[in-house]
Amino acid sequence: MTVHLYHSDPYMKDFSAEVVSINREWVALDRTAFYPGGGGQDPDMGTLNGLPVTEVKQDGDGVLHRVPGHNLTPGSKVRGEVEWGRRYDLMRGHSAEHLLFSRLQELCPEMELVKIAITPDKKSFMVKGALEWEMVIEAQRGALKAIADDLAITARTMARNDPELAETRIKMDRIHGDEVRVVSIGDIDKAACSGVHVRRTGELGMILVTKFTSARPKADFEVEFEVGGKAKHKALELAMAALRASESLGASPRDLLSALDNALRERMQQAEALRQYGRRALDQLTPSQVGTVKLYSGLFDNMDKKTLLDAAAHFTEELAACVLSSAGESFMLVVACPPELGVNCVTVLNEALAPAGGRGGGKSNFAVGGAPSPQKADEVMVRAIDTMRKEIEANSKAH
Ligand SMILES: [Zn+2]
Repeated sequence: MTVHLYHSDPYMKDFSAEVVSINREWVALDRTAFYPGGGGQDPDMGTLNGLPVTEVKQDGDGVLHRVPGHNLTPGSKVRGEVEWGRRYDLMRGHSAEHLLFSRLQELCPEMELVKIAITPDKKSFMVKGALEWEMVIEAQRGALKAIADDLAITARTMARNDPELAETRIKMDRIHGDEVRVVSIGDIDKAACSGVHVRRTGELGMILVTKFTSARPKADFEVEFEVGGKAKHKALELAMAALRASESLGASPRDLLSALDNALRERMQQAEALRQYGRRALDQLTPSQVGTVKLYSGLFDNMDKKTLLDAAAHFTEELAACVLSSAGESFMLVVACPPELGVNCVTVLNEALAPAGGRGGGKSNFAVGGAPSPQKADEVMVRAIDTMRKEIEANSKAH
């Protein structure tokens, strides 16, 4: 059994202890301030007698410290130092997680906490239950109020059968032994927890949700957040992004979302109008005659890819050949014909595209490709139509 100094004094940065056992690189002490991790909170790092502690883990009631290169023996006196910046960040992250989730659960009592990650790089939790932006924002308001109220965060040990546990967030199947450690935030939250917490909510400074996504499986949501100075800087960054987006859209920040919705709707309408225009232009194409075969050709501005491919498929179903292209920021070419004609459309396509630095592929009767620039579109079309005619003529003579 190791004395858990991290529980009796979560602010203890250095401590002295005695080595009780050694197993190669792993060192067990009679007392330690190194938290071995748990409840989603990452383990501590630091040094023992100046040597880096690279891993800390729980071993029954004990705590094991991995200290590569040590020459300690049972009975050795050691001085331990916890990497404080890292630990304090994790403590605040863990307390913030309790506070934020408790505020969410108050809004949605059936919400269930599925997974927690309190690491130096990421602070997040996953919940089961319906979650919406309005709730996330409301929960943050509740958390900020609790921070402003500077509520006490306390821990105590309770008997497993204590009736008070009925009003505690606890998963009984995860509790081993007769006692439960319960962490309370003022009188607004009580949760079973083995983690290390700050003493007052005021120490959190600020909590900001930085990401809220529907994770897999679909019913779960992941909430990422930042605490303290990191939260403030992130808030500034996000506010700047929102202000600049407002400026670009010509809307006040308050109207940003509706302005964005309008812009997206307009874009969809324009895309649909362009598709309709494209379909009409394709309908009006007049084929040229190569022997008994009809050859459709056309170069269009900014034709939607799907419209172009659909048209090519439609022409080949009518037993006609086609050379169709679209010039926008780049250049796209489709060469297709009925398989019976025996023309290799991939070859026709690539011979036409190569001088313009483009290429493509597909099936021998249906090839699609492109070039990075539309500059030589006319030349490519002339080459493709010319080769297509020759190929159709040659193949019809051969038959
Ligand atoms: Zn916890």
